[in-house]
Amino acid sequence: MKQYLLPVMILAIFGTLAVVLWQAMDNLFYLFNFLYIGISIALGIFLFLRNYKHARRITQLLVGLYMLIYLGLASGENMQIEGFWYYLFTGVFEAATIHYAVAKIFGPLLFGRGWCGYACWTAMALDFLPYKVPAAPRKRLGWIRYLTFAASFLFVAALFLAQAGNIERIMFWAFIIGNVLYYASGILLAFAFQDNRAFCKYICPITVFLKPMSYFSLLRVTCDKSKCVSCGKCKRICPMDVDMTDNSRNRKNGTECILCFECARNCPKDAL
Ligand code: SF4
Ligand code: SF4
Ligand code: SF4
Repeated sequence: MKQYLLPVMILAIFGTLAVVLWQAMDNLFYLFNFLYIGISIALGIFLFLRNYKHARRITQLLVGLYMLIYLGLASGENMQIEGFWYYLFTGVFEAATIHYAVAKIFGPLLFGRGWCGYACWTAMALDFLPYKVPAAPRKRLGWIRYLTFAASFLFVAALFLAQAGNIERIMFWAFIIGNVLYYASGILLAFAFQDNRAFCKYICPITVFLKPMSYFSLLRVTCDKSKCVSCGKCKRICPMDVDMTDNSRNRKNGTECILCFECARNCPKDAL
């Protein structure tokens, strides 16, 4: 039973967050929202512990579709990075800012880039593409993320400086157009580089937050050197080119790990 402690703990953390935010914000939405996400993640971990092959994908679809369709399209909540800047500028501590604080800024100190492995609706679609294992070594294109990050900030800043009318409506359309662009460029890059996660590696602006914070992540894959036989299988199948056999924080592409645990699942010696 001890192995099921982790899903129970996840459920307890999200349950507490749900109740605290519900009471603090006097809004029942937070109770439903964080309970739903907590249950989805706990279910995924539970299924993973039961060795179910598609456990991660189930959580990714449950959370990703909920955020994209219910929060984004039906409720008109811009959960993209533009939405974060927007709420930050207006000084409103609401859905998008809370979402960023929990999933992408402070949460990664605890669970690294778990968001990227289990919840992101962009990667949810990209992970259906055929290049789960990158066909070629990583390119030196990571600098592009700083351009997209700056562009998202400047776009929202310009709207405020120009005192644009009906910014709420513009943000809704920015969410739609932004997602179409993300999906289109993500799919194109995946085929061009034969790598499903090329968009995550080179373009995604959110990694500007995610990477430095996940450097300190409590939850991380480590290698038991006494078991490892240096067969290299783990590194060959890693979608993010991480050197998970190096236990140091400075390991190669360490802040790219999305905690998919494919390496651990495939290690013939249970060393990870
Ligand atoms: S890097 Fe960006 S697109 Fe990729 S999974 Fe993370 S948040 Fe989503
Ligand atoms: S797959 Fe396992 S045994 Fe092989 S190199 Fe990786 S950690 Fe070591
Ligand atoms: S295969 Fe292992 S090291 Fe690579 S992203 Fe997944 S969990 Fe991280």
